[in-house]
Amino acid sequence: SSPKEYLKDLFENIEKLNPELNALTSLQKEYAFAKAEELEATRATDEHTLFGVPVIIKENIQKLNFPLECASKILKGYKGQFNATAVSSLEKAGAILIGTANMDEFAMGSANEHSAHGVVKNPHDTSRVSGGSSGGSAVACAAGFAPLTLGSDTGGSVRQPAGFCGIFGIKPTYGRVSRYGLVAFGSSLDQISPFARNVTDLDIIMKTMAHEDSKDATCLKGSYESQLNHVSLKGKKIGVLRSILKEGVDDNVMAEFSKLEENLKKRGVTFVDIEIPSLEHTLSVYYLIACAEASTNLSRFDGIRFGHRAQNTEDLFDLYCRTRSEGFGKEVKRRIMLGTFSLSAGFYDAFYGKAQAVRDLMSRQFDEAFKSVDYIYLPTSPASAFHFGINAFDPIKEYLYDVFTIPANLTGVPAISVPAPVKNGALPVGLQFMAQRGKDAELIGFAAALE
Ligand code: GLN
Repeated sequence: SSPKEYLKDLFENIEKLNPELNALTSLQKEYAFAKAEELEATRATDEHTLFGVPVIIKENIQKLNFPLECASKILKGYKGQFNATAVSSLEKAGAILIGTANMDEFAMGSANEHSAHGVVKNPHDTSRVSGGSSGGSAVACAAGFAPLTLGSDTGGSVRQPAGFCGIFGIKPTYGRVSRYGLVAFGSSLDQISPFARNVTDLDIIMKTMAHEDSKDATCLKGSYESQLNHVSLKGKKIGVLRSILKEGVDDNVMAEFSKLEENLKKRGVTFVDIEIPSLEHTLSVYYLIACAEASTNLSRFDGIRFGHRAQNTEDLFDLYCRTRSEGFGKEVKRRIMLGTFSLSAGFYDAFYGKAQAVRDLMSRQFDEAFKSVDYIYLPTSPASAFHFGINAFDPIKEYLYDVFTIPANLTGVPAISVPAPVKNGALPVGLQFMAQRGKDAELIGFAAALE
């Protein structure tokens, strides 16, 4: 069918399902139809790797005139002012941006329960969470709203909801995809990251958006050279962090983890147990660094330049305080306070400085590990999607869900979550592979070989 007809059917389905799932915060029908019309008048070339393919973006990625609220009251009504580099690349390849996805406020959370737009339901069981913080993008992809969606992954926010929703998600090497136009949370950890329902689609979208960019100084040189169908399993060596799997991993997750391991052994893959001792400090290091960076990044929301402004204030200081008290949600406030505290004079060396030192150590230990193995294997999360509300009174419990995904952000290595082939009706389980920095294409090639 033509791009326009395809969109019509797609929108019908979205309008039927989204009121229940709450994955989208806007559907840009008029814009999308206009784009489709433009495409219908164009002849597709080799450059058009995504000709007419609908894409949905997380609400923290800039697209001119699309909502950019970051699921926060403080940005209510705020719209994108320009196109993120990743967005421009997709559009150049012929993709049609059709809407924006729900998320945890400023990407802080693991369940999409901290959103000014409300929670997102898991399509596999609507009494359970979608995962987060890119829950809306994950559900939009899983429920067929678009074959490809974008999220952002700072500590697991794409891989974890991909696992909860039974789809693929990759956090590229830090700097592999430009961050220009992504609203910053933890700048040294953030990566725009894609979701897809199969590896081939993931490979295509990576090829389209993973390239250098003069607008992001941390962006890597070179580009993504697809290795689909060029990676063979035979002879590969995989490291398993067995000692951190001992406690706190649910039985259904462990069962799928072991099943794939056994299966791969039969196909010529060798498994060895490895240790990365610094991983014991994963959560403390991450929450110090992420909160510190968030507290400075979010200082720009002052009631003057963007979005919400408190009314009837007494002076400038009162305006800042009241705007921020009214505009930010509870989890965001918690992180700003933690981050500001750990960066303050007298505490810097004890907290932020030390966290950075452990982070360096972790990077070196990963480099060392990759001298003897091709990939590192872990579940994506210690459990499958949970019921709504269970972490409402205990932020630490929610933070535990990120323990396996965060190391890739701290060390910058690429990591992919692949869905385990669970029985029909069972909850999805995500399994994760990490590779050396820069080996994104090879990692995707490897994931394709698993099938
Ligand atoms: N759940 C983690 C957090 O709350 C990760 C978030 C993310 O990757 N954006 O910080």
